[in-house]
Amino acid sequence: MLVLPDEAATLALGAALAAVSPEGGLAVHLTGDLGAGKTTLVRGWLRELGHSGAVKSPTYTLVESYQVAGRRVHHFDLYRLTDPEELEYLGLDGYFDGTALCLVEWPERGGGMLGSPDLSIRLTVAGEGREARLQGLSEAGRAWIAALAN
Ligand code: ADP
Ligand code: MG
Repeated sequence: MLVLPDEAATLALGAALAAVSPEGGLAVHLTGDLGAGKTTLVRGWLRELGHSGAVKSPTYTLVESYQVAGRRVHHFDLYRLTDPEELEYLGLDGYFDGTALCLVEWPERGGGMLGSPDLSIRLTVAGEGREARLQGLSEAGRAWIAALAN
């Protein structure tokens, strides 16, 4: 468990994860209540990769794509998804293509459509700050967490 006392700490965790990210296609699930800091973490992540523009949660469009540091990054926010079947229209295979990095807020709304991620990050509100719990669910994900600890 990691203690994130303020917003800067959440941004820094996103940046640290970006800095030691394995190559290739990766899926990361970000869970936690509204306001837990999921989008903040993605913002720190994209900034570390070199993205200088805004990062807003794509609550209405479901996904926002970035091309940054020679890498495609897809940021999903499935909060408004009413039926996992809607993801069929989005064409998930075009995003989870084995090369892109997919960062998914509210993955639980996708039902079984998303599959298991490489890395799961759970954010919870703790007093004024937040706590983060990271879980590697693939070999790449476990290597990622090990690299982060170094
Ligand atoms: P989510 O995407 O999970 O709904 P956001 O990333 O939009 O949450 O963050 C909601 C609010 O929480 C923002 O105002 C952000 O600045 C704040 N926040 C993020 N991380 C922390 C933290 N570690 N401590 C205190 N506030 C934080
Ligand atoms: Mg959000």
